Amino acid sequence: MKAIILAAGKGERLGELTRETPKPMIPVYGKPVLEHNILLCKEHGIKNIFINLHHKPESIRTYFGDGSKWGVNITYKEEPAILGTAGAVKNFENELGGGPFFVIYGDNYSQYNLTKIAYAHRAKQAALSIVIFELTDVSKSGVAVMEKDDRIIKFVEKPVEIPPPSRWVNAGVYVMESSLLSEIPSGFSDFGKDILPQLIQKNYPLYGIRVEQPVVAIDTPELYRRSLTRAVFFDRDGVLNEAVIKDGKPHPPLSIGELRVFPGLKQRLMALKSKGFLLIGVTNQPDVARGEVSKMAVEEINDRVKRDLGLDDFKVCFHDDKDNCACRKPRPGLFQEAAQTWGLDLKASYVVGDRWRDVEAGASAGCQTIFIDYGYQEKQPDGAGTVVKTPYEAVDHILALEK
Ligand SMILES: [Mg+2]
Repeated sequence: MKAIILAAGKGERLGELTRETPKPMIPVYGKPVLEHNILLCKEHGIKNIFINLHHKPESIRTYFGDGSKWGVNITYKEEPAILGTAGAVKNFENELGGGPFFVIYGDNYSQYNLTKIAYAHRAKQAALSIVIFELTDVSKSGVAVMEKDDRIIKFVEKPVEIPPPSRWVNAGVYVMESSLLSEIPSGFSDFGKDILPQLIQKNYPLYGIRVEQPVVAIDTPELYRRSLTRAVFFDRDGVLNEAVIKDGKPHPPLSIGELRVFPGLKQRLMALKSKGFLLIGVTNQPDVARGEVSKMAVEEINDRVKRDLGLDDFKVCFHDDKDNCACRKPRPGLFQEAAQTWGLDLKASYVVGDRWRDVEAGASAGCQTIFIDYGYQEKQPDGAGTVVKTPYEAVDHILALEK
């Protein structure tokens, strides 16, 4: 099969973020969202890919070239005047002809099983299949009203009725028979507003293919979060919450009752967020391996800290030294795991900790390190980037560097 990936989107709603970067090039987990779509096609055996371009076309062409680096063949067409979602497909009529093809909105992030979707399209003998998922607020989406067998009898773009006629929304992935190309006029047209309602009216068999996983549009806060590539990593005890000091050494609180999150820290963390940092807790909790506290109790505390301070993620090592794991600080395993999960640039990220293990793990991971020196009676860290006295100062230090 072939696929056309729509990549002309300008992303006005994203403002600053898309001035230099076209929407499909915005990174998600460290890769342009368009690259995820190309890789998805490749994974499902789709090698001939057609891409329309409009906003900043050179940045997309330069990055992907002819697609050979990804094992696919890419053919581009530039639209001097934007043609709309359907008009763009029509513009590739000569290239797409013969058999069904995929239409994928290239500035969405989705990980759908295209093989299964193509199979469902054939099984229903549909002229056009639309991947759909269920959503509560459908006011910004196109919804499909279906009969029992999922045949679409009505398609409404951004419905205003309350309640809406359907909660099944367009995921921006279609399988389309090339015979339908003759139904799309040359020039500008949009699938949701123009073409889908018209095809339904003409009684073409359009079907919804229901999926559980929602698509994530790049111009939503959720995907913006995933587009971030820098993090500030915080050790937990002594950094996010007060450590319990016994014999000059810090210890973790053992229950929610003992937990004291640093007051007013959240406000400063939100300032970091507004600078485009993900906030990630990274903690050693060896008391679990030592049998002194349950994993459940630790997770309860972590969840509370995460919620109270608005963290994006928490990475935890439950081992002790004798387990010889890769995740216990001073080893950098947890930072590398977070980098993989979120597509982070560790060199542009910070680690804040109050013990030598935090600082040395952060340095091994290639991060910039900030040591909060409480004067504990123990080994001092080797070469912390910056030394401060409180978590508040640590955050202020990063904010000052961002100015
Ligand atoms: Mg600590």
